[in-house]
Amino acid sequence: MGELDLVIRASRAVCGKRETACSIGVAGGRIVAVEPLGGLSGARQVVEFGADVVVLPGLVDSHVHICEPGTDWEGFASATRAAAAGGITTLVDMPLDSVPVTVTAEALWAKRDAADGRCHVDVGFWGGVVPGNLGELASLHDAGVLGFKCFLADSGSDDFPPVSAGQMEAALSVLRELAVPLLIHAESAEAAAALGAARGRRYADYLASRPRGLENLAVAQVIEAARRTGGHAHVVHVSSSDVLPMIASARRDGVRVTAESCPHYLTLAAEEIGDGETAYKCSPPVREAANRQLLWTGLRDGVLDLVVSDHSPCTAAMKELGTGDFGAAWGGISSLQLGLPVVWTEARRRGFSLSDVASWMARGPARLAGLRRKGRIAPGYDADFCVFAPDETFTVDPARLHHRHPVTPYAGLRLRGVIHGTMLRGEFTDPGCPKGQLLARGAA
Ligand SMILES: [Zn+2]
Repeated sequence: MGELDLVIRASRAVCGKRETACSIGVAGGRIVAVEPLGGLSGARQVVEFGADVVVLPGLVDSHVHICEPGTDWEGFASATRAAAAGGITTLVDMPLDSVPVTVTAEALWAKRDAADGRCHVDVGFWGGVVPGNLGELASLHDAGVLGFKCFLADSGSDDFPPVSAGQMEAALSVLRELAVPLLIHAESAEAAAALGAARGRRYADYLASRPRGLENLAVAQVIEAARRTGGHAHVVHVSSSDVLPMIASARRDGVRVTAESCPHYLTLAAEEIGDGETAYKCSPPVREAANRQLLWTGLRDGVLDLVVSDHSPCTAAMKELGTGDFGAAWGGISSLQLGLPVVWTEARRRGFSLSDVASWMARGPARLAGLRRKGRIAPGYDADFCVFAPDETFTVDPARLHHRHPVTPYAGLRLRGVIHGTMLRGEFTDPGCPKGQLLARGAA
């Protein structure tokens, strides 16, 4: 197989669907061989890991709002530094919360210019579907986006208005031909408008303003649009567990619908959120513990395909921590750096394995984004790894987060699992030296 640049001897590694002891051979930034622990020799460099750590495939986070260019909410340098510290080696940027929003090929070039040379992990891009830009989708696709995102409810950004159910269906028809997914924020704008927005400090009022019904109604529209068009619809950030049997039923019919949830929906609970605690505000909202239990059942049953951060940053002032007003506060939780230990702490308690976590947080998102060389430890894949100590614990200290504005509902929480290092294409990431690449569809 020619000379190896690196051999990793791992007492524990998640290869495929199980944990095993193995030697991983790397050449030219790719995994070229996976053999039993004693195998593979003659490499220029050998790295050995003992039984205190597990080598995971580098995580893939397909739901990240980087908000650059045009805002100071986050940025490519800070977000990707946080990602690397969190064991993530590939992320995909959402097409809104930046200026411009990524709804034309020109806007994609502006994004790429802002990102170029600043990224510590690999970065791909979703394009946006908004009313009136159907004619732009083919050129955005040609320019390399991995797929598209639309909203059925207010996105919080005037530059990125929601589409109607009919417009979503028209986009799905176009994207079926382009063979890429449409990611959908599934809450019903009409039903939300009828309820009106919440104001004030009571979390119960905020929760009541965005009930499960908003999601249930919109997911029904998503499923029928996917059924009629044959397009691949992906429901982002599932919060309402009511939609899980709907999705399972549609899949039994052969409808191409997939779904994700996020660390906050899987680990936080409405009953534990105090009034005025706007660090917890996100859209859709964190719901009751009984709902959370059913989301875990959805993961166990494979109805939920993946777990991604929905890292949705803003300035500290926009979180309205002083007033605690859930109406005025930005809806979004930043968790890029913390997703793995947050999810692992809860998953472990519930009897899941690190293979399960790797499936939800690496293989699943890579498959959604069409990234054929990401998300697994196997020959032919990029040599991207997260070196994770699953039994160590730490307390979340916002001062240690690389997020530009480290407001977090997880502050002070004791979590299990520490990231000891992150390797991108066979090299440990270095906060002083960005080596991430910009990924285009088909090239990765
Ligand atoms: Zn989002």
